[in-house]
Amino acid sequence: MTRPLIIAIDGPAASGKGTLAKRIAAHYGLRYLDTGTLYRAVARDVLAANGDLRDAVAATAVARNLDPDTLDDPFLRDRGVGEAASIVARIPEVRDTILQYQRDFAATPPGAVIDGRDIGTIVCPDASAKLFVTATLQERARRRYHELRAKTFDVTRDQVEGEIRNRDRRDLEREVAPLAQAEDAVLLETTDLDIEAAFQAALLAIEGLLER
Ligand code: C5P
Repeated sequence: MTRPLIIAIDGPAASGKGTLAKRIAAHYGLRYLDTGTLYRAVARDVLAANGDLRDAVAATAVARNLDPDTLDDPFLRDRGVGEAASIVARIPEVRDTILQYQRDFAATPPGAVIDGRDIGTIVCPDASAKLFVTATLQERARRRYHELRAKTFDVTRDQVEGEIRNRDRRDLEREVAPLAQAEDAVLLETTDLDIEAAFQAALLAIEGLLER
């Protein structure tokens, strides 16, 4: 049996990894999982039940009952949900609960492109290829600001930059599965690249990794 092709893509908030991951999945005919939506959905369900995002017992119970059919809810992309997600994502039991779902998704033939913060390090340490996508804080804030404005969110550039800075800090400093570049991941710095150039650079890096 051929081994599933697993491409792990990690990076900080608003680094463009989701856009890249989707295009890479389409290119290789693979399934795609945005693991951030899992944490966003846990946060949404905790808040919907008037729960506390820091309550490990409540958040873990919600994670166990997560309905994968609700992951395309547009509300998950709302401003504020990412921040709430980064609070529940610090709870080890929440992470453990959704770990198997992510691994099963990756292992289902023909394989998958999976993006998040800990895919190359924890979820799929044996991935066929790993990328770490990043850009400066200012560039990420600029991109997210334009995205939010297009959805008519009333927000300033400074607010967006402050929110991303907070999320970076939470994701980098947490004790369990912090945002980190795996040792065998290729770093893709996209500050000066448009989507097409970033996609071409990602393909080049992946082809190099798959040839090894
Ligand atoms: O990628 P996205 O911005 O949708 O992720 C929302 C939050 O979920 C992140 O800020 C992070 O705290 C958490 N997350 C995580 N591990 C992942 C994916 C997301 O901790 N693999």
